Amino acid sequence: TQLLLFFMLLSVSLMIGLYRTPERTLKEMISFGLLKKEFVPFYQPIIDTRTDSMACCEVLIRWQRADGELISPNQFIPIAEHNGQIKLLTQYMLEQVIDQFQDEFFVNKGFYVSINVTPQQLEDDEFLHTTINLLKQRNVPAHRLAFEVTERIPFKNLAKAKSIIQQLTDFGISIKLDDAGTGYGGFSYLQNLPIDTLKIDKMFIDTIGTNDVKSNILDSIILFAKHAGLKVIAEGVETAEQVAYLHQRDIHLMQGFYFAKPMPFSEFRLYLQQDLQS
Ligand code: C2E
Ligand code: CA
Ligand code: CA
Ligand code: CA
Repeated sequence: TQLLLFFMLLSVSLMIGLYRTPERTLKEMISFGLLKKEFVPFYQPIIDTRTDSMACCEVLIRWQRADGELISPNQFIPIAEHNGQIKLLTQYMLEQVIDQFQDEFFVNKGFYVSINVTPQQLEDDEFLHTTINLLKQRNVPAHRLAFEVTERIPFKNLAKAKSIIQQLTDFGISIKLDDAGTGYGGFSYLQNLPIDTLKIDKMFIDTIGTNDVKSNILDSIILFAKHAGLKVIAEGVETAEQVAYLHQRDIHLMQGFYFAKPMPFSEFRLYLQQDLQS
């Protein structure tokens, strides 16, 4: 039995080891990537289909390695959320976006930019203050910025989140609930927090025109949002059929490859030049 115990312990520690090593290495790689300024914001337009022009846009982080390779956020954001590096990454996105706001193509337009944050950042006074200070220092009006917070990860301290979100909205920054329908306590969040917009996850948009039972959920979310007086953004819209379906239900803010993919700032500038109404 001692031998058995020994092997059990050995295999458990090996499993932990296998699990740990890549995460630790990735953490070091992220730190190094931050030093080398390898993280860049990509911009994806959100279209108002009533006017066919951009209403706002979402910032999506990309890790641009020295060899030109682009790493998707799904490969490093969950780990950064887990180990706290997300604070530095968000801060860095925010700084770059605010820098790019000084560009004439941003200054002269009215659209706002939406940045992804994790729930824990909306429970953090330091995040509130650095954000407000940054906007003031750089003369960027607060209404040009929004935060989207995912429903996938629960808030730890709802009362604290409520207070921070209230202060952010009082200052002029709006808050959206991201990945609506996929996660924790969406309804209780909406009852308790000053959130004005729901972003319906692609998972539900994908069910349009299929027999998937989740298409019923899509209709319920839309109905709920209407009753609660919330704005709705449909994400991951890829087909004309989806656009038509959403239109029929009075949804006209849409984001997806059907309209435009996320793009680097240089390309986004050209996009803005063509889109006269934003
Ligand atoms: P998300 O916030 O739900 O962002 C939407 C994702 O859907 C993006 O993936 C976007 O590129 C993709 N997408 C948009 N339209 C379409 C479409 O029509 N078809 C398909 N197939 N995909 C579409 P991306 O950029 O890979 O980001 C993945 C997730 O990583 C995001 O999901 C968000 O949760 C997270 N993320 C991205 N940037 C940041 C960031 O700066 N901070 C934090 N905390 N999370 C981020
Ligand atoms: Ca988002
Ligand atoms: Ca989303
Ligand atoms: Ca999503």
